[in-house]
Amino acid sequence: MPGRIPVDDDRFHDRCGLFGIFGHPEAAHLTYLGLYALQHRGQEAAGIVASDGLRLRAEKGMGLVNDVFTDDRLRALPGERAIGHVRYSTAGDTVSANVQPILIDCHRGPIALGHNGNLVNALLLRQELEAAGSIFQSTSDTEVILHLYARNHRERLEDAIAATLSKVMGAFSVLFLTEDALVAARDPWGFRPLVLGKLDGSAIVCSETCALDLIDAEYVRDIEPGEMVVIDAGGQRSFRPFPPEPPSQCIFEHVYFARPDSQVFGRNVLASRLELGRQLAREAPCDADIVVPVPDSGMGAALGYAQESGLPFEWGLIRNHYVGRTFIEPKQSIRSFGVKVKLNPVRRILEGRRVLLIDDSIVRGTTSRTIVGMVRGAGAREVHMRVSSPPTTGPCYYGIDTPLKSELIASRHSVDEIRRYIGADSLGYLSHEGLLRAVEDAEGRRHCSACFSGRYPVAVSQSADQLRLFEKARS
Ligand code: SF4
Repeated sequence: MPGRIPVDDDRFHDRCGLFGIFGHPEAAHLTYLGLYALQHRGQEAAGIVASDGLRLRAEKGMGLVNDVFTDDRLRALPGERAIGHVRYSTAGDTVSANVQPILIDCHRGPIALGHNGNLVNALLLRQELEAAGSIFQSTSDTEVILHLYARNHRERLEDAIAATLSKVMGAFSVLFLTEDALVAARDPWGFRPLVLGKLDGSAIVCSETCALDLIDAEYVRDIEPGEMVVIDAGGQRSFRPFPPEPPSQCIFEHVYFARPDSQVFGRNVLASRLELGRQLAREAPCDADIVVPVPDSGMGAALGYAQESGLPFEWGLIRNHYVGRTFIEPKQSIRSFGVKVKLNPVRRILEGRRVLLIDDSIVRGTTSRTIVGMVRGAGAREVHMRVSSPPTTGPCYYGIDTPLKSELIASRHSVDEIRRYIGADSLGYLSHEGLLRAVEDAEGRRHCSACFSGRYPVAVSQSADQLRLFEKARS
């Protein structure tokens, strides 16, 4: 019997996207649209919790936003307040208990939570809570936040949430919804993005501005690292409840995760990618005939590279946009099926040319190797590769799904060894300095770039490694 096989997915992945709205008669419907715009941040599961001021109701499920939500499911979410979440999960981690927002009832009343990020002390906290009698429903570290909240006895909602979040370490952009308030917060380092918007007098909080654009809402500002915003019938109030830390916003959002039409950490993402490409062209020139992006991830950088170098930009690889994460295996195995099903080379463009491929990163190297082989197979005379970020030498502990360090090709091999493995005639990466310069942060004062530099802004203890193994084992 043929089974389902995973499509080759040799990338870092953002794990979540968030959307929340307060004070709009179509709150659930707009949340659905917001999540739709944020689908690139998570394709495995989606959920919405809405409040009509009396009750919280949840609808969630596995799959894409459009598959999870029907008219009937949205109609089952009345009220003027809602939060929603899209989730990416690691292979096998497809249990519905992990689908967010997580809705609980405790002595303080019902509350829902959506979380983008990863807590480096979640395992430790979980062990303590379990030893004290807590029973967990899911494997997600987000549930730890809710257990801590339920044990808190501070009177005001904002005090209880601030005290709860003060106990967790690492990356969190979070949205809480109670019957009558929406609370948004970002960890003091600001790893993951979170922005404030407005529409017809209602307040919106979401991961990226592309979600605001879809519903004709206005971008107001970023929620700052370490800021907590409470939105209720009394308006919006901002707090700074956490001790300040050096800002460490994820630079990979600009390299790959965020949508190019979004404004992230105060910068347009496409503008960043064009500049990454221009910088790459200055640092790693190439004697080639054409510049070809690996779609879609290398698109912006390839355009920037072509502009700076004067080489023609060509669509030499075409992407099928309708590919899921798994495929029914053909009876007779097809070589490199996982990549082929996504990308097809255009022989008429590539044949006889010296081709320069541009991609945003090389993770394990398996996909790059297949693509280089594909382009050569389509008749390219030479195949060169340039990468618009430095070698990825370490995993992420702050909310991005990455392979283990040992699986990252650049953690164990030199650039020339990687070149030989992927079969390219030449290989060049952007420097770490060039990466920072491209996002106008030459001193590296605002961004995390730990997966390139090994300098982790929040101490990664043994427990963080254990947490990753624990997550993999439990899923
Ligand atoms: S380690 Fe890399 S992926 Fe993770 S937050 Fe830092 S820059 Fe982003």
